[in-house]
Amino acid sequence: MAKKALITGITGQDGSYLSEHLLDQGYEVHGIIRRVAIEAPQHHLSRIRHIEDRLNLHQASMESFPSIYSVVRSVEPDECYHLAAQSFVATSFQDAFSTLNTNINGTHYILAALHDLQPDCRFYFAGSSEMFGKVQEVPQTETTRFHPRSPYGISKVAGFDLTRNYREAYGMHASSGILFNHESPRRGFEFVTRKITSHVARIKLGMTDHVAIGNLDSKRDWGHSRDYVKAMHTMLQQDEPDDYVIATGETHSIRELCELAFSQAGLNWEDHVRIDERFLRPAEVDLLIGDASKAQRVLGWEKDTTFDGLIREMVDSDIIYFESGDRF
Ligand code: NDP
Repeated sequence: MAKKALITGITGQDGSYLSEHLLDQGYEVHGIIRRVAIEAPQHHLSRIRHIEDRLNLHQASMESFPSIYSVVRSVEPDECYHLAAQSFVATSFQDAFSTLNTNINGTHYILAALHDLQPDCRFYFAGSSEMFGKVQEVPQTETTRFHPRSPYGISKVAGFDLTRNYREAYGMHASSGILFNHESPRRGFEFVTRKITSHVARIKLGMTDHVAIGNLDSKRDWGHSRDYVKAMHTMLQQDEPDDYVIATGETHSIRELCELAFSQAGLNWEDHVRIDERFLRPAEVDLLIGDASKAQRVLGWEKDTTFDGLIREMVDSDIIYFESGDRF
């Protein structure tokens, strides 16, 4: 019989790639979607539109324990990938209360429901490099101390600790990925990579003439979502649950990203990029660069996509998107 996977956040970037990967592996894939997604499916289900008829979608809210409980009871999943979150750091400063509520309580609700109804279900928590924030060492590994610098980072530390506690207290197969930034043509437009590649496309097509950026010198470790979701799945196939850093081990600045993205469209970045301090974070994170050697050794995980390949794919896809309105 096919294994059943339940994905929270199935409509997001990672949820869509993970769904494709699990369908390819022969899984029966279930996902939790919000009521708003049913009201505006064109927009909210756009990342999974091409596979929607192969998915089982259930309406629930991460803010409601009864709704999560009822989905877990009806699906009876073998594996649960908890990806749903308010995932944008800047918004977490503007609305810390709802970020903490969704991200911390949501994680607690799904863990509590699984513990009660499906204690043998394997669980994945979407941890983040933002948990390292003011980094205590470079590069960061599974043993690096956390020092989050945003409400988002704090919510992810709490989710990480909840996951570890359900593992240690109740023996659940609960693992966390500590994933560094990963992007794709399906990334939300508010994130800096997609903000830049979408503006490159719009500038190329004459729809605008500039993009406003906060800090050209911030550096990140950027990989491709398609590569990273495979690590999530492999974590749940291990005999023992554990925590793993997933990263490329390379770091690039926003300036380098701009140079590459604009040159892919035959443009000079310095003609179009403006600095705007409104986009600076109240507290910036330091040099985030991950050491994924444990994942390479234990999971056999490797990235397939280079930084150049990622940014070129995003620019090319955004040019098609803005030319034709065809998103993916
Ligand atoms: P996205 O922002 O693309 O997707 C977030 C998902 O969460 C969407 O499906 C969204 O639903 C859902 N969601 C948000 N709030 C709620 C809520 N209140 N109730 C139900 N569902 C909700 O994120 P990614 O796919 O990029 O990331 C997946 C996970 O991995 C997130 O937890 C993120 O924090 C984490 N992560 C991501 C990294 C990255 O670089 N991408 C790095 C490290 C961790 P809707 O479509 O309806 O808004």
